[in-house]
Amino acid sequence: MKKPLVAISGCLVGEAIRYDGQHKRHPHVTHELSKIFEFYSFCPEVAMGLGIPRPTIKLMDKDGETHLVDSKDSSIDHTKLAHKTFKTHTDGIEEAHGIILTKNSPSCGLDPVKVYGEKSGIPFRKTKGLWAEHLCQEFPLIPKIDSGRLYDDHLRDTFRTQVLVFQDFQNLKKEAKDLIKFHEVYKYYIFQYGAAPLKALGRICAGVSKSNLKEKFAEYEEYLFGTIFQKNITDKNRTNVAEHVAGYFKGHLEGGDKKYLHDNIKAFHSGKLSFESLIVLMGFLTKTHNQKYLKDQKLFSLYGKH
Ligand code: SF4
Repeated sequence: MKKPLVAISGCLVGEAIRYDGQHKRHPHVTHELSKIFEFYSFCPEVAMGLGIPRPTIKLMDKDGETHLVDSKDSSIDHTKLAHKTFKTHTDGIEEAHGIILTKNSPSCGLDPVKVYGEKSGIPFRKTKGLWAEHLCQEFPLIPKIDSGRLYDDHLRDTFRTQVLVFQDFQNLKKEAKDLIKFHEVYKYYIFQYGAAPLKALGRICAGVSKSNLKEKFAEYEEYLFGTIFQKNITDKNRTNVAEHVAGYFKGHLEGGDKKYLHDNIKAFHSGKLSFESLIVLMGFLTKTHNQKYLKDQKLFSLYGKH
């Protein structure tokens, strides 16, 4: 399979395009994610024609609306130009399986960025950067992450797997059996988000047929990427997943091995073992005990080795 395509703020991959002519190379992007993703870089401010270097800009509240203005002279308002540029600057991004955006940028910031008061000149609320907001509206289902979150191992890894799942979904042939198979092989991956979301997706899948194929695919995609993936994966849910998977080895493991497996699940639950290590152990047991159903579970390929 081809590497997933991830659209990314160009400064994060080392392009010297920032207001000061510098880059904002991100260590996890260049040393780790570049090995598994193909990058498609963009810079909305350069696309707007603001130049390199350029005067700094900030977000400003004007009558309740968010504007993009020059930091020193707020009468220089780039908002109209920004919206006009953004309409065409999304070319190519619709093909992406993930989006990474630069923290704190008034254009790219995905996590809340300061918005300054027009009269007070001081920040009094926060919102997404203008370009980030545009991307969220245009491509609500593509997994996204703010570069500040890439320093968190758990959030970075969740993003990595979400991108791979999104790519897999986009590559489906769009036949009823493909949706059913997808749901089956991702069962324990999705279970990390809880039993209820998994069941809800199962109900969407249940009635899929030739006559409602388009609607069912759209409903499934919307619910998985637009709702479930917006929630957090918790250790409690992961423990639940591990206990369900362990159930497949009932009757296959001797007393000592059974205890070893359950001790490892406990160790994960108490934070002494990583989830990846637990998955590697379970993947090994799946192979040695030839558990056909488990073998196909994407949980093992997504976390077991990468
Ligand atoms: Fe980086 Fe975005 Fe600023 Fe361009 S506009 S330099 S891509 S943060």
